[in-house]
Amino acid sequence: MSAPDAVMSLVRADLQAFAGYASARSSALVGDVWLNANESAWANPADSEGRARRYPDPQPAALRARLAELYGCATEQLLIGRGSDEAIDLLVRALCEPGRDAVLVTPPVFGMYAVCARLQNAPLLEVPLRDDGDALNADIDAVIATALAGNAKLVFLCSPSNPAGSAIVLEQVERVATALQGRALVVVDEAYAEYAALPSAVTLLSRYDNVAVLRTLSKAHALAAARIGSLIAAPALIALLRRCQAPYPIPGPCAELALAGLSDSNLQLTASRVERIKTERGRLQQALAVLPEVVRVYPSQGNYLLVRFSDAQQAFDALLAAGVVVRDQRAAPQLHDALRITIGSTLENDRVLSALAARRVAA
Ligand code: PMP
Repeated sequence: MSAPDAVMSLVRADLQAFAGYASARSSALVGDVWLNANESAWANPADSEGRARRYPDPQPAALRARLAELYGCATEQLLIGRGSDEAIDLLVRALCEPGRDAVLVTPPVFGMYAVCARLQNAPLLEVPLRDDGDALNADIDAVIATALAGNAKLVFLCSPSNPAGSAIVLEQVERVATALQGRALVVVDEAYAEYAALPSAVTLLSRYDNVAVLRTLSKAHALAAARIGSLIAAPALIALLRRCQAPYPIPGPCAELALAGLSDSNLQLTASRVERIKTERGRLQQALAVLPEVVRVYPSQGNYLLVRFSDAQQAFDALLAAGVVVRDQRAAPQLHDALRITIGSTLENDRVLSALAARRVAA
């Protein structure tokens, strides 16, 4: 446990006092004739309700409050971004001095952490997932040792992990946070948390100022096109990142759609759909596991399955011939024979199974 703003020592020295852009919406001025942002005097003809004429609230207040309630944090701890992708980019830019401060990732894993590191010219430290036979798990001892030896400023832990499907228990996250206190921010990417059986790392924020959590509305909440992601972290860090962000990052119509999508009744529907996906995940896992060409189906806490095939190219082609597009993982480390299959509707999952079965009959 350290002083509330100790996390700011992790921010690039040259950004400590960064003021950012002063947007027209952030001023405290009050009036009824708004002539301070060079907006049009009239609405666009297609915008019958005149809702798009003005620049939007940079952090739409009602949505921010609702997201904070949903994720169990204070509003000052939450930054809304254009998907969690934007939050990853902001973190790397604000924390990593180019050419010096490293980003640690655990491949095979979601690619944006490495992309953002390369854009920032931040050294990339790779700690491969440990192959425990029946699962690919984060190697926490190696993460800590590599982060300490390699000057990591940011450690991305993906839980549940995309594409491996494994999750990291909170005690392990705490171990990393404790070992890297004052040295690195531990970012737990919980893009798929709604499908998982584990509690969120948000509960750790009260005790570890060097833990941050990423959430998104793109997966379980079915709002990928709205591009609404959340970063949850210490308020001082959130305030700094807001100053590093684009002036009006969240389009007004997207914020409205997201808020409507999080109404009580919609949240109930979302929860029941998550249960359906989990049921389908179990069904598909069992059905795939008995196919002779399937070498392994990894248990998954996300809305996808990572599957090893005796001939992944053949399986990929058979699925594609049946019109089913899945993610080819063969370029990823350790996954030369693997495909990632998103859990779809019952009908869609049946299409996967029948495409693979038809291939066997044809062979
Ligand atoms: N994190 C993980 C682990 C993901 O798989 C994805 C999307 N595939 C993202 C973050 C980005 O999600 P978004 O930008 O849509 O919030």
